[in-house]
Amino acid sequence: MLARYDGHMAGWHLEHTYAELPQLFYSHEAPTPVREPRLAAFNRPLATMLGLEPEALEGLEGAAIFAGNAVPEGGRPIAQAYAGHQFGHFTALGDGRAILLGEQITPSGDRVDIQLKGAGQTRFSRRGDGRAALGPMLREHIISEAMHALGIPTTRSLAVVKTGESVYRETVLDGAVLTRVAASHIRVGTMQWAAAHDDQEAVRALADYTRARHYPELADSPERHIALFDAILGRQAYLIARWQLVGFIHGVMNTDNMALSGETIDYGPCAFMDRYDPATVFSSIDHGGRYAYGNQPSVAQWNLARLAEAMLPLFDRDVDRSVERATAALDRFPDLFEQHWLDGMRGKLGLFTQEEGDKALVDDLLAWMQRRSADFTNTFRSLTSGRLVGDSTNADPELEAWHHRLAARRGRQPQSPAEAEDLMRRHNPAFIPRNHNVEEALQAATNADDDSVMERLLDVLATPYDHGRDLPMFSTSSSGEQPYRTFCGT
Ligand code: AMP
Ligand code: MG
Repeated sequence: MLARYDGHMAGWHLEHTYAELPQLFYSHEAPTPVREPRLAAFNRPLATMLGLEPEALEGLEGAAIFAGNAVPEGGRPIAQAYAGHQFGHFTALGDGRAILLGEQITPSGDRVDIQLKGAGQTRFSRRGDGRAALGPMLREHIISEAMHALGIPTTRSLAVVKTGESVYRETVLDGAVLTRVAASHIRVGTMQWAAAHDDQEAVRALADYTRARHYPELADSPERHIALFDAILGRQAYLIARWQLVGFIHGVMNTDNMALSGETIDYGPCAFMDRYDPATVFSSIDHGGRYAYGNQPSVAQWNLARLAEAMLPLFDRDVDRSVERATAALDRFPDLFEQHWLDGMRGKLGLFTQEEGDKALVDDLLAWMQRRSADFTNTFRSLTSGRLVGDSTNADPELEAWHHRLAARRGRQPQSPAEAEDLMRRHNPAFIPRNHNVEEALQAATNADDDSVMERLLDVLATPYDHGRDLPMFSTSSSGEQPYRTFCGT
């Protein structure tokens, strides 16, 4: 029997609009209690933002709720149904190890999903145990909070609880549950799920729900379905541009891992690129490099094409006309992406104005970085502080020529060098979650029960654009004999 705590103490204010969708979209499921819940991480600032009382949740009550041993006041747990293309193959999925407790209404009036990840089996678990391991949940905690601090739309992590139980993967690992906070968990795959059931009313209901929840500005749009698709596509173009601009590699951009809200979701084998190379892949299961850094924009467009297919009957009664509309929208993706990306790159180079030759200027720097295996983050960091990229004593004539071009380009804009530097500081992070730092933090937390390394890392990553700190431990490129490998941990 699940205990219930008094919500008024902790500040829970849970609603359940998603559950008003047709039954097709979810299943009532309760989390499976765990043996000995203990908080491994708790995000106080986020709790406060959600209107929750940190003091009421930092003890046993919080551990019980974030483990799924107790349902918070007003919680009505469900598992969401969805499908998805995984590495190109269509599959019926659903929350096999996640439970949605409800939608918390924050003091500022926002509606956000509170979801437990690793909360036990559901009818969608297939052969899985419904559980998660501590390492991958702490990785999601670290990286999603780092993304948020970088200003990139993302789901967030409120808490990680150790379950006191083991999970069995390649080895025996400590079990954990992560509390994920998201604008919603509606995915491209959710729409595909409805379409796969040939249920046009369900497709329409989900589209209307998504529009009302995430794109209320389209309420009076005359062609509301194509307008919704356009808007989703626009947010994805922006999101992927933001990823590219900091070297973030998602690692498993299946259609079930793409949120219609425009947030980054599902931190599995993700990692940040150090040496610049568009072919960079970290995920151990991505043998073909489908989700390599350089492929992310085209994969997003591919995923959006799957979304368009699912929504097709909504666009027009005439099929050919529908396809025409969808294709026209999809064809705009590359340009939209490039606009966002180039805007961001101008910021990274301290450029306020736009010139024809800007793309070539950026591309030539990237080509140089690739030839030299230069660290992506640190190259832009050097530029920001006015040091010559590469910082070499033996001058690189190619790079010197590039610097002259940049200087000439800067000379043609009215803004001062100080203004340019300020712009660059806001666009170029000094600190990203570097693979060696993340690994060290996870090792200490999982092997030695020592959270201090992670706490320190979280602290550094909380203000990534603060260039005033000199912390070589957190800014050296991860180097190793073997290429860095990440794992799904599912
Ligand atoms: P992910 O790779 O985390 O995006 O998960 C893909 C699908 O596999 C989702 O439907 C998950 O719910 C499901 N899944 C992943 N891990 C497990 C697990 N340990 N038990 C049950 N289902 C799982
Ligand atoms: Mg997923």
